[in-house]
Amino acid sequence: MKNKVSHRITRFFRRIIPYNSFIYRVFYQIYIRLFAFSKLKKKRPDQIDVQIHAVEHCNLGCKWCNAFSPIADEKFAKIEEIEADLKRFSELTGSVLRKLIVSGGEPLLHPRLHDIFECARKYFPDCVLEIITNGLLLKNAPDTFWKSCNENDVTISVTRYPIENNTEKIELLAKSHHVKLVYQDDTDIREKTMYFTPLDPSGKQDAASSYRLCYMSNYCFVLENGRLYTCPTVAHIEFINKYFKQDFIVSEHDYADIYQMTNIDDILSRFQKSIPFCRYCVKRHRLSGLNWALSEKDMTECIC
Ligand code: SF4
Ligand code: SF4
Repeated sequence: MKNKVSHRITRFFRRIIPYNSFIYRVFYQIYIRLFAFSKLKKKRPDQIDVQIHAVEHCNLGCKWCNAFSPIADEKFAKIEEIEADLKRFSELTGSVLRKLIVSGGEPLLHPRLHDIFECARKYFPDCVLEIITNGLLLKNAPDTFWKSCNENDVTISVTRYPIENNTEKIELLAKSHHVKLVYQDDTDIREKTMYFTPLDPSGKQDAASSYRLCYMSNYCFVLENGRLYTCPTVAHIEFINKYFKQDFIVSEHDYADIYQMTNIDDILSRFQKSIPFCRYCVKRHRLSGLNWALSEKDMTECIC
């Protein structure tokens, strides 16, 4: 009940205050400072969201994409690897999670998405299972996709970008297959905008305060290649290193190895404080409410 009321209040303010306005940015800065304490709180498995990436590349290529998909190589997750990670993680958490998210890149590019859903539901029978998509491929998604969403109780969360897409048709398709469809970030009420946290290759930033004031830390973890990461930035920095010939370092203290660690409390405790990688994130230049644009694959889109 409390959640529903606060959700309505948030939507009301989001409707009347544009994301890219000065007033929104001021409110946002106040908000992240007020809730900074929550970043240092140890979470329980039933309080965490975990994302797995079906693919790393995307059919859109947005500027400031926090998964760095515009510069990622084409890469499809292997079902066997996803299954192994989910199996192991479910053993650690007792099959409990708040939400399991299939994302990317654009996850609908994966030809065996139905197998990923089945696997996710097998190991996490009770959590919210969601796919986050830009929606561009939904109009022509095969029946196997819709059937699998229905059978595995998958919620489709569409981020609406300011580009042409037949949302009426998508909503009808979801309805006819009895699949729940929602919009990410309230993009049914206004245009999608972007966030941007530039990286400082010198690594001289204050890691603790970057972490405390980060909208991604200790919130929605990335599970990939047997590792749990607190944010997509550290999970996917290899794309930046390769494309822009950089040398951002990921150490063993920047993630939790789910095969080496045996206790979920120890794993989640690791994210109660900053990770060494946060020394690269420039909190004072963090921007929100940026108008959406296509990426030009320019280094200034991620590095200052
Ligand atoms: S649609 Fe999403 S994953 Fe694709 S480039 Fe844009 S932000 Fe990144
Ligand atoms: S590395 Fe730290 S500060 Fe940077 S995005 Fe990830 S959690 Fe946030």
